[in-house]
Amino acid sequence: MWYFRSPEIVFGEDALSHLDVIEGNRAFIVTDPMMMQLGFVDLITEHLHDAGMETGVFAEVEPEPSVQTISAGAEKMLAFEPDWIIELGGGSAMDAAKAMWALYENPGLDPADINPFEPLGLRRKARLIVIPTTSGTGSEATWATVLTDTEAQRKLGTGSPEMVADIAIVDPILPAKMPPRLTADTGLDALTHAVEGYTCALRNDFSDAVCLKAAQLVFDYLPRAVKDGSDMEAREKMHNAATLAGLGFGNAMAALAHSLGHSLGAVFHVPHGRAVALFLPYTIEFIQRGDTETRFHEISRFLGLPAATPAEGAASLATAIRDLSREVGQPLTLKDTLGDSISRTEFEAALDKLVENAEADSVIAMSDRIPTGDEVRKLFEYAYDGKTIDF
Ligand code: NAD
Repeated sequence: MWYFRSPEIVFGEDALSHLDVIEGNRAFIVTDPMMMQLGFVDLITEHLHDAGMETGVFAEVEPEPSVQTISAGAEKMLAFEPDWIIELGGGSAMDAAKAMWALYENPGLDPADINPFEPLGLRRKARLIVIPTTSGTGSEATWATVLTDTEAQRKLGTGSPEMVADIAIVDPILPAKMPPRLTADTGLDALTHAVEGYTCALRNDFSDAVCLKAAQLVFDYLPRAVKDGSDMEAREKMHNAATLAGLGFGNAMAALAHSLGHSLGAVFHVPHGRAVALFLPYTIEFIQRGDTETRFHEISRFLGLPAATPAEGAASLATAIRDLSREVGQPLTLKDTLGDSISRTEFEAALDKLVENAEADSVIAMSDRIPTGDEVRKLFEYAYDGKTIDF
């Protein structure tokens, strides 16, 4: 027996006006400082006031939110006593809102103790509306929350099926303000979800369908969204793609590229989407060289890429991902990703930690080929220099 979980999804132009008809008394907005600057918090507050609600705001979520921020936000939430929690922002604010919600319903809970197996008893006090402003993480559709333990320099990927939001409002007016680099980072995150959701161990017929559509939309519309942010058709399609990919991997799992990307992001603070997408073609090449059957060629066939054999299909997909990354201005090697501020010596000094983190990330076990510790190290080294995987 299996489940397909999804929030109610309100999407397309003017989806934000759905807020006007929400019934409730007190709405608490969880967001980040940029959302204040862009005027998005005022916009959402107006809608909530039209719905007759009182509002409170916690606007201190940082990118890759820390467990300390979760505790601070949950305290404010406890004082405000909302019956609706409204998340506004990218994956960082979404993950923060989910975790704060868990602490609000369970005061004193340690965020590190949130897990899929222990009931949280959510919705006794409040329900959750998520309003993504980036088109990438798909967190609006998943039960996952990714927090950062800054002291231990590692990410805590956790969550609970109860944390799937009640409502996701997927309105393209919000991501339309993203600058090109953020559009590219987050769009490639959505592609990584689609590919890993389709090929991971927990794939299923329902997640397959949305993963394929999401991958197609990213290839078709990401270059347009990066080139011209005011292209609203491209913005809308990319926003839908991210949510579809979220439904896909959220109801299946992520895999090897995510374990490497999470590790890199925690050690060197590379934005999440850039980090996972960098590794995606390398991991496709690595997995394809293993003994088990793979499914990358099925994605290639769906996209109309050469895929006469599984090997050709996997190679086509890896090439198409590199071409897309190049087109939207993303680095193809770890060396270029880290830039001049981090030397090869510093990278090499961090390798033990990078490998340790990646091996400790549960999604590493979700690929058709699971690397040994030595292979994880080589994956980092090959990605650093941009070498074709030959092991
Ligand atoms: P983000 O939320 O960290 O935002 C990055 C920056 O972009 C922030 O400064 C933010 O203020 C700004 N920003 C957001 N929307 C904007 C807009 N419309 N215009 C201009 N600026 C905007 O970035 P993200 O990539 O959306 O989220 C990354 C986080 O999501 C990571 O912590 C990652 O681990 C997590 N994540 C979670 C899941 C999940 O299923 N829970 C999946 C993937 C990633």
